[in-house]
Amino acid sequence: MNSPGRWLLRLFTHAIRRYLVGAEQRWVFEQPPQGWVPPRVERTSLYLHVPFCRHFCPYCPYTKVPYRESLVEPYTRAALAEVDWWANAIGPAKITSVYIGGGTPTLALDSVARVLRRVRERFRLTGDDGSPADICIETNPADVNEETVQRLHDMGVALVSLGVESFQPGNLAAIGRDYQPIVAERALALLAESNFASVNADIMFALPHQTAADVTADLARAVQLGADQLTTYPLFTFPYTTVGQYLRLAAVRMPNLHMRQAHYRAINRWCMEHGYERVSVWGFKRGAVPRYSSVTRDGYIGIGPGAGSHLPDGFVLNSFDLDSWMSATCHGRGAVALRMPFAGEMSGWWWLYWRFYDTRIPLDNLAMTLGSDADKARGWLKVVERAGFAARRDGQLELTESGAFWLHLAQNYFALNYVNTLWTQARQAPWPQAITI
Ligand code: SF4
Repeated sequence: MNSPGRWLLRLFTHAIRRYLVGAEQRWVFEQPPQGWVPPRVERTSLYLHVPFCRHFCPYCPYTKVPYRESLVEPYTRAALAEVDWWANAIGPAKITSVYIGGGTPTLALDSVARVLRRVRERFRLTGDDGSPADICIETNPADVNEETVQRLHDMGVALVSLGVESFQPGNLAAIGRDYQPIVAERALALLAESNFASVNADIMFALPHQTAADVTADLARAVQLGADQLTTYPLFTFPYTTVGQYLRLAAVRMPNLHMRQAHYRAINRWCMEHGYERVSVWGFKRGAVPRYSSVTRDGYIGIGPGAGSHLPDGFVLNSFDLDSWMSATCHGRGAVALRMPFAGEMSGWWWLYWRFYDTRIPLDNLAMTLGSDADKARGWLKVVERAGFAARRDGQLELTESGAFWLHLAQNYFALNYVNTLWTQARQAPWPQAITI
């Protein structure tokens, strides 16, 4: 999109969010006031960020540093100190799920195991029905072997996700992944036969030169190798990543909107025809396996550099700089660099945003979660339904295929304009003053 178009779209979304959430919500992340401590929390989830990578993929927007063995011990001590800091601040909350991402968690599994032990000591790690809390982890094809599998079982991991991206050498090369398809194939087959509650495969679409048939061939291969969940996502182009430069160097063009829609439709159709149901705007699963998901939790605390936390009264973000994060947590201060408090019914609107992401909106919960804005939300949902983007089923509003496609585009826009603004500026200084999104 050209600059005037982007500017107009930004103006439009500013007007919408002001109308929906209200003028009292300030969209500014600022340094927390002196002496700020997080509020007490009864029930939440936990995200652990492991920031090490051996190889930097040019499209990747996540917080990471080159892997060095000597960094793992100081990182682990800082993560343990941060678990203690959160436990002292919010109390011995019930943690219903843990998500371990990165970076590359499989490069530091001993460290992850130690942090999980501390989480178990300081919090109540249990599901709502008394079953064990879900522990999900991202794995990297090159690191998966019998020993990795055993360690994951030992630490109680139930759901694993493998970053396959594609089984086709040309596509892997186009996005700068450094392994051959056979490595991902072996890793996926091993995970699938290793008695995890669920195995997810990440598959990318809308890659340069990729066809819809390429994408569905990747889905078919993942399923053949035993994946029971599939997460499909397009190549995001965060301006601060090197992907733009990388793609220009390779003299390739990104697929246009028409191509992207064709890929999205092909993925949906293929999944429906092969017994997979859509469980989020990007994700599909088969059968009764527990759902693998990283982001749709109603609240979470984040451990690690750049990790975010969703608290009852707002969002907070840790320092992105590894050294600053380690120094702050090891001195017992916590590493929260920025905070955006919620005003009005912002917490409820945020809940509704993630229910859209789930592609199912439970209509009975609107009054409870959106309070005085519930009628406004009902009005908007009616518009969505009349436009053919959603249909009622069993007391829920379910997104249609076109609704899910447009939502995925909106999320791409959201990522580019909000997450990108926040992450770009947050990584320019260890303790930024303020960031307006
Ligand atoms: S995509 Fe994954 S492996 Fe690649 S640089 Fe990003 S975090 Fe590291």
